[in-house]
Amino acid sequence: MKQLPLCKLQSLFAAVSAAQKLYIPADDAAGQASFTVWQEGIALTKKLNTVRSAKDLFFPQVENLMGFRVREKQIELIETRDETAPFVLFGVRACDARSFEILDRVFLSEPQDTYYAARRAHGTVVTLSCTRPEETCFCPAFGIDPAAPQGDISCWIEDETLFWQANTEKGEALTANLPMLEDTDGAAVAAQQEKTRALLKKLPLAGLDLSAVGAGKTKALFDRPEWKQLSESCLGCGTCTFVCPTCQCYDIKEFDSGRLVRRFRCWDSCMYSDFTKMSAGQPRPTQLERFRQRFMHKLVYFPDNNDGCFGCVGCGRCLAKCPIHMNIVKVIKTLGEEHA
Ligand code: SF4
Ligand code: SF4
Repeated sequence: MKQLPLCKLQSLFAAVSAAQKLYIPADDAAGQASFTVWQEGIALTKKLNTVRSAKDLFFPQVENLMGFRVREKQIELIETRDETAPFVLFGVRACDARSFEILDRVFLSEPQDTYYAARRAHGTVVTLSCTRPEETCFCPAFGIDPAAPQGDISCWIEDETLFWQANTEKGEALTANLPMLEDTDGAAVAAQQEKTRALLKKLPLAGLDLSAVGAGKTKALFDRPEWKQLSESCLGCGTCTFVCPTCQCYDIKEFDSGRLVRRFRCWDSCMYSDFTKMSAGQPRPTQLERFRQRFMHKLVYFPDNNDGCFGCVGCGRCLAKCPIHMNIVKVIKTLGEEHA
């Protein structure tokens, strides 16, 4: 393990940034934390997490796929994708780091999504442990330890010192170019982990019971009458899907500029009334069906198809941002109640 006095963090960022683009969570003009390209003077946020997750760096909200030019009866395909350059993502929390494994199951299974795959191959993920988990956090329910975040490099900040542990070849390569890091035994990290884990046990969502949901539960849950009451206030705004690190639905559209037809993809939401709408109609015509789809996908269908892995990492963003205070925890708890 390595360490660096926190007062030298900007010099570490400068050294990383001299070789490749560096993103850190920083506060914007509205005081919201988001992953931002580091430049001199940009400081690490003190907030626990970013409003939008780190998935944006691997699966951006809007992305050009290709272009077409039509000349008489000929269609010419134009490559519009940018070369992917190596980049470093610093300050990713344990929940978002786990979300990459979930996204990998979707985008890196055959046939691979080469746009996503290129970014994953070029990105080095530096995680940062949590010391002040919030009341909306429940990542331990999914076996995530926020005191021991995964990633190419894991970091901890304790008593004005940054601790740095490389976990992969990519992490070792980045570390080798940062001579300001000094060797340490990391005893302070173990003490911090103990404190954080004790804190996690006291949070309101500690011990969230997932036994009612999971693989193989479609028959038991699909027709539960509680979906009506759970979904009736849902505005279908899609906020929960846009802040979620594991949501991965997108639409593909084309834009004709007159000289070039651009094909692009953009995030979509299963909460929207036109999602998966076809010429034959809308397969989920009511908000109840769309709402049920979102939660059944994360809590039952995804585990069904992915060795029991849930499609949620307990980041708590949907708990914090839904305008009607509906969220996945309420769904899990309601489905866990005995019903007539
Ligand atoms: S659950 Fe909440 S955030 Fe999600 S679509 Fe409905 S109203 Fe919007
Ligand atoms: S469903 Fe909610 S808590 Fe779970 S990963 Fe998505 S935003 Fe986070």
